[in-house]
Amino acid sequence: MLNRVFAVGVLMLCASYAAAEGCEFVIEANDMMQFNQAQMAVSKAECESVTVKLKHTGKLPATSMGHNWVLTTTANKDAVTSAGLSAGAAKNYLPENDARVLAATKIIGGGQETAVTFSLKALKAGDDYSFFCSFPGHSFLMKGKFIVSA
Ligand code: ZN
Repeated sequence: MLNRVFAVGVLMLCASYAAAEGCEFVIEANDMMQFNQAQMAVSKAECESVTVKLKHTGKLPATSMGHNWVLTTTANKDAVTSAGLSAGAAKNYLPENDARVLAATKIIGGGQETAVTFSLKALKAGDDYSFFCSFPGHSFLMKGKFIVSA
């Protein structure tokens, strides 16, 4: 009886450890308009949801070198960037209540960090997704592939 309880406990610990490993990301952004990762990969079998922590390692304020982390399909990236420009700083340079935005953090400045947790339910394995920063002019450099596998 005790052995069985112990075994179940160990299995549960292993499962939650594995989930945390593959389902949490820390990505850094700097004053040079760069992310430190060009690719993130997740597995729907391993992760029900994903957490992305964004750390701005620079010193410049959000008004001049703000960064966020935004996820869309690659096809929608440029249109969402344009809509974000129109939305302006008060809206974190993102269109409000827009289904094309699959996940997004707020805009942060140097020394700050933020995070977003989102479900993978709406994302399809093998589809073409991109992450980027929607601050005006940044998405040409600050972008990467978000790869979803089954
Ligand atoms: Zn940026």
